[in-house]
Amino acid sequence: MAINESQFDFPEAELVKATEICKNCKNIVVGKGNVNARILFVGEGPGRKEDEQGLPFVGAAGKNLDKLLNNVGLGLNDVYIANILKCRPPENRNPLPDEIRAHTPWLVKQIKEMKPIIVCSLGNYATKFFLTNGVVEKMDEQLGITSLHGKVRDMDFRGLKIKLIPLFHPAAIIYNQKLLPLWSVDMEMVKKEISGLN
Ligand code: URA
Repeated sequence: MAINESQFDFPEAELVKATEICKNCKNIVVGKGNVNARILFVGEGPGRKEDEQGLPFVGAAGKNLDKLLNNVGLGLNDVYIANILKCRPPENRNPLPDEIRAHTPWLVKQIKEMKPIIVCSLGNYATKFFLTNGVVEKMDEQLGITSLHGKVRDMDFRGLKIKLIPLFHPAAIIYNQKLLPLWSVDMEMVKKEISGLN
């Protein structure tokens, strides 16, 4: 059982708690940042450090994300950061379709409460989730992040108008330094969209 499990007692959390990965994790990782911000970043799922601390993006990928936020002049007061999965999958394996189905109603609840204007989806899973409007069965049919990154889309996500900006996952940049120049170009796009908010 997750250490902080008893704090959450609403239906979307119960769906998460019923999954095997929740039974084996240390913490349910809900999110961090400002819930009243206009910009939401969504990653894939907690890793070891995130599981230990109960916060998203506090490990190596998180350091890269901090850099990204810094580059565009953003701090944790300006954004909210969450994940597709609320619990760490064993050995950081990819999320399974049933896990995405069980964990994302909580994310959707957060999005409906937060009403972000810009959503930056980090990597394949988050990007495909938004592009399919959260229809997990259709996620496999979508193009990958290599084709989609940096292309801003105005879209309707479950009745909410958002600007979706797909970005490479910050962990991918660590493993593949060739992505760095593409990442920088995408960051300019994020900067431009953010400046349009004011
Ligand atoms: N990778 C993610 O997708 N999310 C985290 O919280 C940490 C690493």
